[in-house]
Amino acid sequence: MYDGDIASVLISERQIKDKVSELAKQVDDDHPQSGDLLLVGVLKGAVMFMTDFARALPHPAQLEFMAVSSYGSSTSSSGVVRILKDLDRDIAGKNVVVVEDIIDSGLTLSWLLKNLASRNPASLEVCTLLRKPDAVQVDVPVRYVGFDIPNEFVVGYGLDYAERYRDLPYIGTLDPKVYTSGA
Ligand code: 5GP
Ligand code: MG
Ligand code: MG
Repeated sequence: MYDGDIASVLISERQIKDKVSELAKQVDDDHPQSGDLLLVGVLKGAVMFMTDFARALPHPAQLEFMAVSSYGSSTSSSGVVRILKDLDRDIAGKNVVVVEDIIDSGLTLSWLLKNLASRNPASLEVCTLLRKPDAVQVDVPVRYVGFDIPNEFVVGYGLDYAERYRDLPYIGTLDPKVYTSGA
């Protein structure tokens, strides 16, 4: 798949699987009355993580999705966010876990958390598969982090470049020729 486009595998399919189980166990342990968690997945990047994570949780959870778009270039976000698809349900009084693919600047998440907090959930936490070093510049409370990764553009397991590579089962970096060929 995508022969020659991937420069290196940063996190293997096996490593992702193990980490998803570990995170699910951690979240479940921290919520003794679990069975009442409401997962909010952020489309589209978090879809693979969300579905694997939900199935790894030992107790039932409900699944909701939001789609947001950050104004700015395709590789960096501005913090100005627009809701493309809102939640279908009221989250007031619910124990909400936002499931994210990656936190880079943290601007998108920071905006999203303020927005969700204003809807009065009982609790509001974040579980992200990946986090980049710049994320520390914005004070976003992230309780669960899968992997801290270097400041490189990554694709796979939900993450895209120009809508491609989301279906890779691992996380990798792209060969620079992909950026320059205008694929
Ligand atoms: P932030 O607001 O934290 O800077 O940006 C978060 C969003 O930018 C992520 O949800 C993701 O869509 C995108 N993003 C940030 N870093 C990467 C990356 O390395 N690869 C890909 N494919 N998307 C990224
Ligand atoms: Mg995301
Ligand atoms: Mg993208």
